[in-house]
This record gives sequence, structure tokens and C-alpha cells, in this order.
Amino acid sequence: MKNQLVLGLLAVASALAMADEAPLRPDQNAYLELYKEFVETNTTVTTGSCTALAEKIAGHLKSAGFKEEDITLFSVPEHPKEGGIVAILQGSSKSAKPMLLLGHLDVVEAKREDWVRDPFKFIEENGYYYGRGTADMKALDATWVDALMRFKQSNYHPKRTIKMALTCGEETTYAFNGAQWLSKNKPDLISAAFALNEGGGGRTDGHGKVVVQSIQVGEKAAQNYQLETTNPGGHSSIPIRDNAIYQLADALAKVRDHEFPVKMTDTTRAFFAKAGASRRDELGNAMVALSKNPGDAAAEAIVSKDRSYHSMLRTTCVATLLDGGHANNALPQRASANVNCRIFPGETVDAVQATLVKVIGDPGVKVTPVAPIRPVAIPPPLDPKIIGPAEKLVAKYFPGVPFVPTMSTGATDGIFLEAIGIPVYGVPGGWGDPDGNGAHGLNERRAVKSVFVGRDFLNELIKVYADSTK
Ligand SMILES: [Zn+2]
Repeated sequence: MKNQLVLGLLAVASALAMADEAPLRPDQNAYLELYKEFVETNTTVTTGSCTALAEKIAGHLKSAGFKEEDITLFSVPEHPKEGGIVAILQGSSKSAKPMLLLGHLDVVEAKREDWVRDPFKFIEENGYYYGRGTADMKALDATWVDALMRFKQSNYHPKRTIKMALTCGEETTYAFNGAQWLSKNKPDLISAAFALNEGGGGRTDGHGKVVVQSIQVGEKAAQNYQLETTNPGGHSSIPIRDNAIYQLADALAKVRDHEFPVKMTDTTRAFFAKAGASRRDELGNAMVALSKNPGDAAAEAIVSKDRSYHSMLRTTCVATLLDGGHANNALPQRASANVNCRIFPGETVDAVQATLVKVIGDPGVKVTPVAPIRPVAIPPPLDPKIIGPAEKLVAKYFPGVPFVPTMSTGATDGIFLEAIGIPVYGVPGGWGDPDGNGAHGLNERRAVKSVFVGRDFLNELIKVYADSTK
């Protein structure tokens, strides 16, 4: 996922009780083989292939007993290496709707010369597994595949049909996005009552102790807009005030100074109430006050000092790229900027465009949404049938650790599924460190304990959901 919300500010800490360094069970060894293979299969958009990994997964599923007709491999001719896979484990209930396990197979670029270890070699060191994708998100991909394989092998028949979709393109905006493609072209194949995805999980205090667990419920929509000004230009030795670059600069200053209004979803309201209550300071009090009254300007001013919380409270738009002029000694004929907006759930791309136009207040500045146009983010409900079992398991595995729902200010593939009516939840269970574990960056790693505890946790969670037909 991109730009995962930092929850490090939560003050409550609790020890994680765990049996120390027991030898791996046979099922854990089998899982580890899978995880290693996933990490060592390069799935970057430049030199890797998601299709190759999807085919390996299909082979594993077949060897576990899945039939040809339960597995769909897909790709499009223009992007032969950006394929994916959908697999289906049939449930026994005729009335219960299926559930979907969602994941992306692709990883962010990683250059050997920048890394301490080979990014596409799976290495265990100092309690961590290293390699590109160990954290984002091949541990979870392997958890989904491993669960389906073992369910099949052990003749476990869930009441609910369990579907799995592993796709490519989540990490690269202009690549082929498999989740978007499935939503558009094969909605029946992936149709489900709800989906489980990345984006949630635990966070340590930086010293191995898990201090919070979260479930991601909803996200903002990322949308780029181009701001453009044009001018007849002329010789720079005889300038006038009317100038494409100044005109654009004035518009950008207005975008900088505009603050979108505070909004809340059920998720963010619950987040600010719970996360605020778990800390006993000015910020915590302000978070609780704001959750009760979003119009509390004094509380809002305190909460918005935190840049993550500031973004959780509203749509944001910020200038990210700039281009203009054609020669050192010429008045510019054209200037343009990219403005990257993170749109609050429920708001449309058109409405944000209209706000930008109004805020800029200059008809000479053209504001255009840049493709791809994102769907409106639809916040999934804080459904007790989803939240309840997750909360219960967090209490069992992580006694005393607070459990909060979060809305991501970043983006996942969940937005495409939510657009066709499938609510997506980022699961708790495994955890990361406050520094982000090198996801998207250097020397990516995942704690060994997080991998195996997370796997046990999720195996239980999947079964609870799959056997509840409400
Ligand atoms: Zn990811």
C-alpha cells in the first residue's frame, strides 16, 4: 500500500506474550517455502512478471486439489507480464454470499546496488525476513494462498464460498491495474459480500512490542489535476505584468491557502474517539472533542497540527510538479502544474475541480482532472459482523492492545472494488515497525514473529467469517 497511516502516537503499550523461538511446525515450513518463492519471484513493473508468479500459484493450488475450473488466470495482450489469478473454494451454503481475499502481487522497484542484500533473495537475519515485498505485501499474499491450499487439503468445507484475487499494478499508477480490470470486466467472478485486504495491521513501539492493532475501513481517492495558463509571450527585455508563470504562481498560492472543510466518516469518528481516549494529553483530548463535534474549531486546530490527522479530516490538494516557459530570454507562453488531491470519501472528482476553480477565481487558469479518473471513494460500513470477530481475536492474540478502525489517507486497490459494491477491510494481525519496514524503500523487511502470528491470526479470522452465514 501507499503512504500507510502512522499510528505511532498512541501511548498505550502492552507486552506481546509469545512462546519464544519454538522450532517451526511442518505447516509453517510449507508456508515459508511459499513466502520465499513469492519474494524471490521478481514482480516489478520493469523487469519482473506478475504473470509468472500467478502461474506458479495456479500450479500450487492444483497440486493441493483445486480443479482447472476453480482457477482463472488472466492478463491482457498489451500487458502480458502484468497478469493475475482468481481462485474459488466452493462453500456449502446456498444463501451466504462469498467472501474475497484480495492482494497485489507486484512490488516497487528495488536496485541491487542500493540495497545491503539482494532484494530478490529471501534472507532471514536478526529476527527479520529481508527482501522486496516481504512487507508489502507478499507475506499476506502467501497467507491467502497457503490458507486456500490447506483448506482444500484438509477437506475443510466453509459455509461461505471463499474467493481469492491476486492482481498486478497496485504500485504503479499508469500500469495495468488488475483489480480495476476485474471490477470492470469480471465483476461476477469476484462478486462478494466483503473483501479482506492489506492496509490494516499492528504497529510496534520500535522495539518489537505491539502497541496498537488496526482494521482499515475506507480510504481517500487520489486524483491529479493539471493547472494551466497560456500567454502570447514576447521578448523578455520588454516585460509586462501579464505573465503565464506569475498567473500560475498566483493560482498555486491560493490552492496552498485553501483549507477544505472538516468531514468525518463513521470510521474516522470512531478512530478519533478511541485513539484519542488512549492518550492522556492535549492532543488526545482534542481528538475526543472533535469526534463528538466536528465543528469544534479549537480542537480541530490542535488535531490538524499532526499532518496525518490533518489529512484524515478533509480533502487535501497540493502542488507536486511544475513546468513552464520555453527560453531564458522569452516571456512564457505556457505554464502548468500538477496538483495532487486526496479526496475525502463521498466527494466527487468534479466537485473538487469546481472548488479549485472557485478558490483560484481566475478564468485564465484552466483546471483539468488528469487520467486516470478515480472513482468516488465509498467508505465501507463499520459492520459489527466484520469488526466484532476481528476485535475478539485481537483481544485473544494481543491482550490489552488497543484496536482501532482507520481510514487510509493513501490508496489501495480497495477503491475499485468499493466502486462495484464490495466493502473492503484491511485486516489486523501481522505488524510493522514505526519506520515503515523499508516498504517501497530500502532493505524491506518483516519480523519473523509478525509473519507467523499474523498467519495464525488470519487463518482463524478467515474461518470465523467463512463459517458465519449472517
Ligand atoms: Zn501494498
